[in-house]
Amino acid sequence: MRILIVEDEALIADSIQLGLEEAGFVPEVVSDGETAWFQGGTEDYLAAVLDIGLPKLDGLSVLRNWRKEKVNMPVILLTAKGSWSERVDGIDAGADDYLVKPFHMEELVARLRALMRRSGVDRSPILEAKGLIMDTRRMKVSVNGAVIKVTPLEFRLLNYLLHNRGRVVSQEELATNIYYQDQEPDSNAVEVLVGRLRRKLKENIIETRRGFGYLIDEEPAVSQ
Ligand code: CA
Repeated sequence: MRILIVEDEALIADSIQLGLEEAGFVPEVVSDGETAWFQGGTEDYLAAVLDIGLPKLDGLSVLRNWRKEKVNMPVILLTAKGSWSERVDGIDAGADDYLVKPFHMEELVARLRALMRRSGVDRSPILEAKGLIMDTRRMKVSVNGAVIKVTPLEFRLLNYLLHNRGRVVSQEELATNIYYQDQEPDSNAVEVLVGRLRRKLKENIIETRRGFGYLIDEEPAVSQ
């Protein structure tokens, strides 16, 4: 659940990063337009939060470049107060939404979720499979009605697998999408994490495909 944050003011970038982490996302911060253009075009993100005033290349140019290159992730622009022309230019350049600075983190999170629902990435805040229910707004997990306590990392792992239901996800892909950018997980970290989560869930919800990765299937699990 990676989100790209493009913001050159460290204080604002830090607070967005923290707010998105608390909401269960995996944010990555870059602080200039050229890096943003490159990262957005070469890596996979669910969405981007893009400031307009940036060093090296301004946010609107970054956005135009992305759209020209068919980088279609939802983008929320951060605009200066009262600058209606920035907002018009932003929508023209391909922005999906904008927020006027200063804003409340709750609003940014709510709008990000709404955007992802619209783009089909996150249709519902409630995800379900095989008796597992995950409420991504309240950050709650339950199995067959019993509430399961999970750590933020375990939550991100479940969230990612549920969003990719029916598809085998490699350890590498999981690691990229659940660890924060400054965390370098050990080679067997994902395996250990999945093992711990399986014991908590007490059901055969997360399946292993040896040599390929992990899967939460859409069909009921065959009990072994
Ligand atoms: Ca700025």
